[in-house]
Amino acid sequence: MRLIKTVSKINLVVAAFIVLISVIPMPAKAKAKTVTSTEMIEEATALDGKSVSYQGEVVGDILYRGDHAWVSINDGENAVSAYVPAMEAKKIKYTGRYCVTGDTVSLTGTFHRACTEHGGDLDIHSNKVKIIKGGYAVKDKSSPAFLIASIIMFPCALAGLIIVIRKKASYNKACRKGSIIRR
Ligand SMILES: [Zn+2]
Repeated sequence: MRLIKTVSKINLVVAAFIVLISVIPMPAKAKAKTVTSTEMIEEATALDGKSVSYQGEVVGDILYRGDHAWVSINDGENAVSAYVPAMEAKKIKYTGRYCVTGDTVSLTGTFHRACTEHGGDLDIHSNKVKIIKGGYAVKDKSSPAFLIASIIMFPCALAGLIIVIRKKASYNKACRKGSIIRR
């Protein structure tokens, strides 16, 4: 009898627990929508406050602001600013600039059409930065056109130099002869 009572008590607790779980609204983990920068700009109103996933190349400087940082991410269409923890930004090794291809990163965060926290700018607040592909330095290759131009220009420059030297020499000679009075 005692055992039955205990079992039914347990059942009651389990039942109550199940009811509780179904009643409490679980934080709905809405699937983030993968977006492009153009979509964010064109559909800014519809996407405002929504969770988005975005991917692109880190460009320009990373601006550290206390425990956070601004990272500019270009997906080939536009650059969008992401506000991320400084620790996450530190994972980025290369940022795109002249002769450097920046790291390709992806992040998921909340999209703000006009962020009230950051002066009304369009941004994404994210807690995590995922490095998809490391960046690298690009060798500065002189253009073939420049090389050809240099080859053509060199004899001209040399000829010009010879003329100048000769003129100078004849001028000096003339000076010595006294036909030209040096000032
Ligand atoms: Zn913001």
